[in-house]
Amino acid sequence: NRSLPGNTGRKSPPAKRGGRHTVTLIPGDGIGPELLNHVRDLFSFSRVPVDFEVVHVNSALTSEDDINNAITAIRRNGVALKGNMETNHNMPPSYKSRNNLLRVTLDLYANVMHCRSLSGVRTRHRNVDIIIVRENTEGEYSSLEHESVSGVVECLKIITRDKSLRIADYAFQLARKKGRHSVTAVHKANIMKLGDGLFLQCCKEVASGYPDITFDSMIVDNTTMQLVSKPQQFDVMVMPNLYGNVVSNVCAGLVGGPGLVPGANYGKDYAVFETGTRNTGKSIAGKNIANPTAMLLASCMMLDHLGLHAYASMIRSAVLLTMNKTQLHTADIGGQCTTSEIIQSIRREIQSSSPHITGSIEC
Ligand code: ATP
Repeated sequence: NRSLPGNTGRKSPPAKRGGRHTVTLIPGDGIGPELLNHVRDLFSFSRVPVDFEVVHVNSALTSEDDINNAITAIRRNGVALKGNMETNHNMPPSYKSRNNLLRVTLDLYANVMHCRSLSGVRTRHRNVDIIIVRENTEGEYSSLEHESVSGVVECLKIITRDKSLRIADYAFQLARKKGRHSVTAVHKANIMKLGDGLFLQCCKEVASGYPDITFDSMIVDNTTMQLVSKPQQFDVMVMPNLYGNVVSNVCAGLVGGPGLVPGANYGKDYAVFETGTRNTGKSIAGKNIANPTAMLLASCMMLDHLGLHAYASMIRSAVLLTMNKTQLHTADIGGQCTTSEIIQSIRREIQSSSPHITGSIEC
């Protein structure tokens, strides 16, 4: 049985002395720092045996020293929780996205995002339940661009057989492990016959080893239309990097928006957790209005990865109860609550489910 990074529990780093884990925490930009402060407070309130090693990355600097320090810290700890680091597109072409550098250097090849309708959040569609598996290290994100002659830019998209087989196999293993019935490969092989053609061919080859799971494929433009008109037809989806970015954002929008959906990046050796749509939310930073749900659920995915399942389900239940039963909502999903009010409600839910937890409700 091959191992499935991040989903067998086999690859999570062992706890240190006293049963505590150390996790790298990268606050990032925009709303990242405030949301991660809430995660830290909630972890200490809930007596979660996790210590954070905070590493700041200044995304405004052209030097790569900060991101290299962060990568070294993740290599040491094995696991990270991060806010999104801003990539200002006015920076010179040599400036690489810090988020992308981190994922590629650590070979975090599988980005996984689970978009599921929440009963307490009003959306156009109900019963959406889609797992998106996105290749996270190549494709359009190669950062290989050049201006061959003035006014002509070539931007390279790299698709390799090895990485396409690897991500396809990840998607099918995940589908089987989660008891899902179908995998859809998303592509544009009618136009990019070689690149996307190879990706699609690899998915077909892998699919033949999973006769218990239905395989189909769909062209990316039709996929986005199908998603907004009949999203319930999709189960597990697998795709190259850029389509993964677009489809993730469409699916997050279908279930209520970027404040709700967590995301995980898994490789053979490391795992990094963040919000699914990787937003910085600069314009709402520091206003106490950001929806903390996606980041809190990302921290629960991280706890599951560390094998701390009881803590993960305690915090996850409290977050979902606040969202679905108490129906305390921030403005992005039509409510009027502040971030701190949501956090206070989550603390109350944790305390009522686990009375031995005695921290103060106030935050
Ligand atoms: P800005 O926030 O400055 O508009 P942006 O245009 O890059 O930055 P993103 O960070 O990509 O926007 O976020 C997209 C939209 O989603 C923004 O309107 C942002 O405010 C909103 N958003 C992102 N995360 C959250 C969150 N956790 N809670 C509420 N709204 C959010």
